[in-house]
Amino acid sequence: MSRFYEVKKRDGAARIGRLLLKGEGREMQTPLLLDIESLSSGGGEDKMEVIGVESPLFTELSKEETWNAPRGTVILPEIHPLSAKLKAAPPLFVDFFVLAFASSMLHTPEDFVRRVIDAKRRIPPDVALWVPAIATVENAALLAYMGVDIIDDTNAVMKSYEGIYQLEECELRVDDMTDLPCNCPVCSSLSIEELRARSAKERAELLAKHDRLILEREVKKIREYIRAGILREYVEMRVRSSSFLTAVLRFLDTESEYFERRTPVARKHVMKVNTMESLRRIEVKRFASRVLDRYRPPSTQILVILPCSAKKPYSLSQSHRRFITAIGDYRGNIHELILTSPLGTVPRELELVYPAAFYDIPVTGYWDAEERAWVASCLRAYLDRNRDNYDMVVAHLRGAYKEICATVAEELGMEVIYTCEENEKEYTKEALERLRSRIAAFCGAKRRLSRLEMGARIFKAMADYQFGLGTGDELVKRGERVTLTGKYPHFRLVSTEGVLARIAPEYGLITLTAKGARRIEKFTPYIVEIGDFVPKGSILAPGVVNAGEEIRENDEVIFRGDKAFGVGRAKMSGWEMVESERGVAINVREVRALKTVDCD
Ligand SMILES: [Zn+2]
Repeated sequence: MSRFYEVKKRDGAARIGRLLLKGEGREMQTPLLLDIESLSSGGGEDKMEVIGVESPLFTELSKEETWNAPRGTVILPEIHPLSAKLKAAPPLFVDFFVLAFASSMLHTPEDFVRRVIDAKRRIPPDVALWVPAIATVENAALLAYMGVDIIDDTNAVMKSYEGIYQLEECELRVDDMTDLPCNCPVCSSLSIEELRARSAKERAELLAKHDRLILEREVKKIREYIRAGILREYVEMRVRSSSFLTAVLRFLDTESEYFERRTPVARKHVMKVNTMESLRRIEVKRFASRVLDRYRPPSTQILVILPCSAKKPYSLSQSHRRFITAIGDYRGNIHELILTSPLGTVPRELELVYPAAFYDIPVTGYWDAEERAWVASCLRAYLDRNRDNYDMVVAHLRGAYKEICATVAEELGMEVIYTCEENEKEYTKEALERLRSRIAAFCGAKRRLSRLEMGARIFKAMADYQFGLGTGDELVKRGERVTLTGKYPHFRLVSTEGVLARIAPEYGLITLTAKGARRIEKFTPYIVEIGDFVPKGSILAPGVVNAGEEIRENDEVIFRGDKAFGVGRAKMSGWEMVESERGVAINVREVRALKTVDCD
């Protein structure tokens, strides 16, 4: 448990936190760059105390409320003789942990990933992690992305003594340079010739100042990107300068469990899918697995597979609008599935969820082998699971989309009808007319879903996606008369009891009212049990008694306790709510005070 550290904002494993320093009420923000010189010379940050396992003071760390400045201890590698002592210690009351022998991580990308992730798993979520003496302007963003909260300038200073000039993208030797491509106070005050003319010590000191300044600027940028929720995009750009760091990111992308537990379920901004690493983001994997595990198609006879559009949600794009107009009332007979990279398959009812309505990918018509294989695997899994649901599968596709579909259909031994000629765009009049007439011939006057039923399907599918399979049927009961108000996508679901849920397109989620929450509370794990109080505004982590393991940041959650019932948005994962002693767990949107029966 920490006393002087509090996480305020998360972006995956990266966090912005507040570290309070002794005296003057000074606070610093993480990711934090420590000035190693001031640490050792007794300057501002010396009030951070590190007590190692070998120190006689170590036992003090197990006592609560006895410290009045940030303190931490050292995490040793498993093979270290003192590691067992640390493991055997009772829970420690510290604000941060320091990863020992961090520089040995730089030997291989696997070690880099292994050491940091193992350390993060060993420490409580509300305590900071300091990885000393390895930060550079090149790797700082990646360190923050992995969940490192504190770095220092040791490495940058050491490099300056070796005559290395650091830039965001690379390191250069001062001896090889003809200019100083920077406008920090050091570089703008002298020329490269003047710098070289200085004594070795002076030169190193000036370089150290420059190196530290650009590292400081980098850390400021990282904090802003975490705040904006775009650190991953920045990291993908950043690692390009080094094959070591690119390898680290690729190894990190195999750590699905680590990132799944820490990545928000929804964001407000567009996910940029511009590199091969973007395809392996946890958001992409999560969406694909939920389409399989938390989605069931409606019982319509025909599946129509369509290509994606650049504009999101797809149905508001010009191409999909043309399709919708051409199909007319037959829409109630078909089920629409959108084929896309990198998300694989997007059922129409889920087109508003994050990241289906929130991604951008360069469109060139060229799909590389990895992209094809991934999208094909998604389509194969979808058809394999749901094929019995349909009497007929129509693919209104061409080019790579059609090739992928044909390969999958052949593998599964499924018959697919193609309604688009190879040299014809999908949304031409002729192509759409061909599609419509095939559907019309097959359906005739068979029963079809009404517009209202299709709208209610969106709520059911989104509820299943967010709260678990089956919750949609509890939110809107079979045969129940409901109405939809508002204009798509700003729908509200209204029953005779009142509003049950709304679509929040800005997040790609549905939000529940307390009435809606009552309908599904027995059927979902997205429940937070709280203490004996009526919350106002937000619920803090210490007020949480228990929370569903599957809850992620920005999830819509139902909270309940003896005195209150309500709904809100999770601000941390369920496991963090349980394990943390600090921080906001839920932003409350609606709360009902419960009448309690007094037994005394
Ligand atoms: Zn400079």
